[in-house]
Amino acid sequence: MSADQHNSPIIVWLRNDLRLEDHPALSAACETGRDIICAYILEEDEDLKPLGGASRWWLDKSLKALRSDISSLGGKLVCRRGKAQPTLDALMKETGAGAVYWGRRYDKPGRDMDAAIKTDYKEAGIEVRSFNTTLLTEPWAIETKSGGYYKVFSPYWRALRSVYTAPSACKKPQSLSGMGIGGERIEDWELHPENPDWSKGFDPIWTPGEAGAHERLDTFLEDGLRRYGDNRNRPDIPDGTSGLSPHLRFGEISPAQIWRSVKSKIDHGFKQEKSAWKFLSEVAWREFSYVLFFHNPGMGWDNYDEKFDAMPWKMDRQAYEAWQAGKTGYPIVDAGMRQLWETGWMHNRVRMIVASFLTKHLMIHWRDGEAWFWDTLVDADPASNTAGWQWTAGSGADAAPYFRIFNPITQGEKFDPSGAYVRRWCPELKDLPDKHLHSPWTADKETLAQANITLGEAYPHPIIDHSRGRERALEAWETLKQKQDAA
Ligand code: FAD
Repeated sequence: MSADQHNSPIIVWLRNDLRLEDHPALSAACETGRDIICAYILEEDEDLKPLGGASRWWLDKSLKALRSDISSLGGKLVCRRGKAQPTLDALMKETGAGAVYWGRRYDKPGRDMDAAIKTDYKEAGIEVRSFNTTLLTEPWAIETKSGGYYKVFSPYWRALRSVYTAPSACKKPQSLSGMGIGGERIEDWELHPENPDWSKGFDPIWTPGEAGAHERLDTFLEDGLRRYGDNRNRPDIPDGTSGLSPHLRFGEISPAQIWRSVKSKIDHGFKQEKSAWKFLSEVAWREFSYVLFFHNPGMGWDNYDEKFDAMPWKMDRQAYEAWQAGKTGYPIVDAGMRQLWETGWMHNRVRMIVASFLTKHLMIHWRDGEAWFWDTLVDADPASNTAGWQWTAGSGADAAPYFRIFNPITQGEKFDPSGAYVRRWCPELKDLPDKHLHSPWTADKETLAQANITLGEAYPHPIIDHSRGRERALEAWETLKQKQDAA
């Protein structure tokens, strides 16, 4: 590196790590004492999976929050659109920057692209450094005794828990540069939906950005963590879980910050220690998803378990649309799908129920479910979404066996016993007595009339009979197994 380059600005290319605190790439740049220019590139590359609508909504607000945080440190978030390398090339030329730092990404096309940029820049004498900005540990860091990656969560979690210590927090920059450098306006990127604007239900719930992430964590630590172990499976209990997933997805908070905060409570004698560890173990599911995703780059499309390649999935468009719209006739499924549409988020227990319903009762491919979640979730994450779908469908690593079919009626009764969740999202059922709330078709005419419900009008008949759906799925499973055994 030449003397000039030693003094030249560093570009910190922000991607899935839209924060200023505890950011290893930013902090390493700060330590050099050189000027730091923060850049965000809205990548237009056919090799990369395009963001879904709800993620674009989030990104819009998250970038605006980051822009304002950077501006309060005297800098500018330089926003550009295009293919990554030519955009970076132009930026380097305009600013005279001699180095680029970034946080790693783990999808195969992204990794390949980053590797190519790194090689080119290194050959040109430009310093490139990459950092882990979004995970507790790199997906290759924790190995089994025989040297491979973990394919089962419990031993992975035991290993992670025994080796992981959160490093001290990285320093936040005191000042940033970039004023005077040309960039595009986030407003011109049309990330917010128009005509129609389907996001009205998002605003009251979410505050994208670093401050919003910390606010949510603080509230959860104050109140929710104590009861997390008991409440985490209960969609009817408001704030039974942290709601941190979109903040983690966009890297507005690091998992290390979460770990440090929770661990510090445990170390200071937090009474509900078991609950706190349970919460950290859920954060570790995200890590585990990244382990699987990193080692199986095709997992977003291919069955992890190849046996499922022969599964006779059916695409019944009418049923798929009823599922998307929350009109299956199964209240817990419909409540979940409507919560998703209204708010961009769905409770984990209900994600499992609706995913099981789609892949088993309706026998629709998990990829179709994944695609809808990808478009509608504000936390749509390439690793956790595919891992969640494959887990539920039975085709994943350490997955729920295909023959374990969630019963949407008993699941509803068990996890929404007060019916508050179904009543909130399916208000047309609100006057049904608890006894029939999760299976309205079991109510007699009089009860339905008293609750102002005509099945097939105010609320649909079930689109498939539970027992029939279950039997059909089990038959398909048996055939698949027999074929496998015969092969
Ligand atoms: P909490 O219970 O408060 O957990 C804290 C954090 O741990 C979460 O924010 C999340 O980052 C992580 N976490 C918790 N459970 C899981 C899990 N099972 N797998 C991976 N990480 C987990 N999560 C996503 O972040 N993005 C997705 O696209 C996604 N798609 C899913 C699809 C299906 C079919 C299923 C069954 C699960 C999916 N999940 C996904 C996992 C989980 O449902 C969400 O992470 C969780 O509901 C987020 O709510 P929370 O932040 O309140 O979670």
